[in-house]
Amino acid sequence: MSRPSTVLLTGGAGYIGSHTAVVLLEAGHRVVVVDDLSNSSEESLRRVRRLADGDLSFHRVDLRDVEALDAVVTGAGIDSVIHFAGLKAVGESVDQPVRYWDVNVGGTIALLEVLERHGIRKLVFSSSATVYGEPERVPIDESAAVGATNPYGRTKQAIEMLLGDVAGSSPEWHVVLLRYFNPVGAHPSGDIGEDPNGIPNNLMPFVMQVAVGRRDELTIFGDDYPTPDGTCIRDYIHVMDLAAGHLAAIERIDSLPGCRAVNLGTGSGSSVLQVVAAASEAVGRPLPHRIGPRRAGDVPASFADPALAAELLGWRAERTLPEMCADAWRWQSQNPEGYPAG
Ligand code: NAD
Ligand code: UDP
Repeated sequence: MSRPSTVLLTGGAGYIGSHTAVVLLEAGHRVVVVDDLSNSSEESLRRVRRLADGDLSFHRVDLRDVEALDAVVTGAGIDSVIHFAGLKAVGESVDQPVRYWDVNVGGTIALLEVLERHGIRKLVFSSSATVYGEPERVPIDESAAVGATNPYGRTKQAIEMLLGDVAGSSPEWHVVLLRYFNPVGAHPSGDIGEDPNGIPNNLMPFVMQVAVGRRDELTIFGDDYPTPDGTCIRDYIHVMDLAAGHLAAIERIDSLPGCRAVNLGTGSGSSVLQVVAAASEAVGRPLPHRIGPRRAGDVPASFADPALAAELLGWRAERTLPEMCADAWRWQSQNPEGYPAG
């Protein structure tokens, strides 16, 4: 393993951040989490501490509060940063664009201000395949045109541009933009997982809430797409594989100067009906679903060309769709209402 380091995780109490914290701690790194808990619970970090030994500290801070963030970073010996914090609901971003630009872009600017003050110049950013908008072809590689089709995606695109400019300002910067495809699943213990507020927008948490009886049935958004079974195809990636991708990026970042975008996906797609079938298999009974109209903005097929991640990070996704469903179900069945409040 590489030299143990101290990694600042913004948004580290959230879904992807908490799983990444486990993997970093297991690899011997120290973890400093800042999160305002606006979309998460401190319980996730208590459970992270139970799953992995090591040094994890938590600071409840809004990223946009430059002085509070500065106080956390001062003397903490931070070597690198993984920047997860942000708002991520596409529909909400259409209704609240100013809030999305403020938290996502404003939060990143505040973070960069503090990092500049402290001479910290290694950053991994949570970007998204949503920056590709309507892809011209699949699989999608990193040279594909970007052109997000909603405010959330445009904040990701803007942050990518900002980080490109920042990396261009000094050869000391090392920035990796990780473009995630569709993260799903949970830690195999079932102790941490995805805990969305309100009605889930995403397929897997919705399916799991149907399985656990919180929702009556899944509506499949369209079965008349130009795909083999008519439902949309996505590249679902196990959150533990995603977490391993972050570890790889942190451990390779010294050899990655400048700013590069790297896809994190499996390279193969599954249709909505295939996900429902795999989830039913994991749960052990059929899951009620019906076909509804298409959802505005959905593209028929999106999956990654993950070759660059293999080349630059030495990383490949390993876990299968049945494992993603089994682990998501373990989390959901052990925690039907998600994390307890408080
Ligand atoms: P999440 O909401 O579970 O985690 C984000 C965390 O950021 C939350 O804990 C939230 O409380 C925190 N946060 C929000 N605003 C903050 C602020 N102003 N200051 C401090 N903390 C703040 O989401 P996630 O699924 O873990 O996603 C993490 C990142 O990955 C996000 O940037 C998201 O846009 C990106 N991403 C997620 C997906 C996905 O499907 N989950 C896909 C692509 C990209
Ligand atoms: N989907 C669906 N019903 C739902 C939620 C999602 O049929 O309740 C479909 C959606 O149309 C898309 C796929 O599942 O084809 C994945 O959707 P998700 O929102 O999880 O990811 P994204 O569209 O952002 O890739």
